[in-house]
Amino acid sequence: MDDARRNLIKSLAGLAILAPLSAGCSRSHPLLSSPVRTDRLRPPGAVAEDTFTGRCIRCGRCMEVCPYHCIKPLDVREGTSAGTPIIAVRKSPCFLCMKCVEVCPTGALLPIEMTETRMGLAIIDTNVCAAHQPETMCRTCYSVCPLRDHAIELVEFVTPRIIDDACTGCGICVQACPVELGDGPDGIKKAIRVEPKS
Ligand code: SF4
Ligand code: SF4
Ligand code: SF4
Repeated sequence: MDDARRNLIKSLAGLAILAPLSAGCSRSHPLLSSPVRTDRLRPPGAVAEDTFTGRCIRCGRCMEVCPYHCIKPLDVREGTSAGTPIIAVRKSPCFLCMKCVEVCPTGALLPIEMTETRMGLAIIDTNVCAAHQPETMCRTCYSVCPLRDHAIELVEFVTPRIIDDACTGCGICVQACPVELGDGPDGIKKAIRVEPKS
């Protein structure tokens, strides 16, 4: 067999291996898409997600120091992000004590003032929020917010509205909301949720 023919056969063999891989990518496992996740609520002061997993050394100090035990490590199924800290606000929100940012040794969590915290943004589902229905009243989220009248306000003394520029994403309102709608991605779905910052 001459060299040109041998090279052609090698090339075709390579294509045969790549074809099923690329088919798999486009269907269910987007290997070629960005690996950066934007659905993780990190503790206060967290740097952007695309650098967070590189800076965090999985020392667990933020988890140890949190008096409310609201920071948990991602489990082994999360691959290279395993062991990094997240907050599941429906189970245990962040109470903005700011102790975790003081102990992070690598700058994955940067020192920040409580009012400057932007872990995410609270979003009210007005279709199910009790305050937005004609026969029910509720102001629970407004009442529990540590930045009441800054991060959340009442429109005409009745319906809560999030003030995007000031909401910390702490999730205290989410845990307190009495409207429960069955299973959501990390527990019971509420009428208010926090979308992590991207
Ligand atoms: S600010 Fe306080 S309550 Fe919030 S995650 Fe950090 S240690 Fe926990
Ligand atoms: S606590 Fe829930 S139901 Fe009550 S006003 Fe807030 S979002 Fe609506
Ligand atoms: S509106 Fe909710 S998430 Fe935003 S600061 Fe207030 S309690 Fe925290």
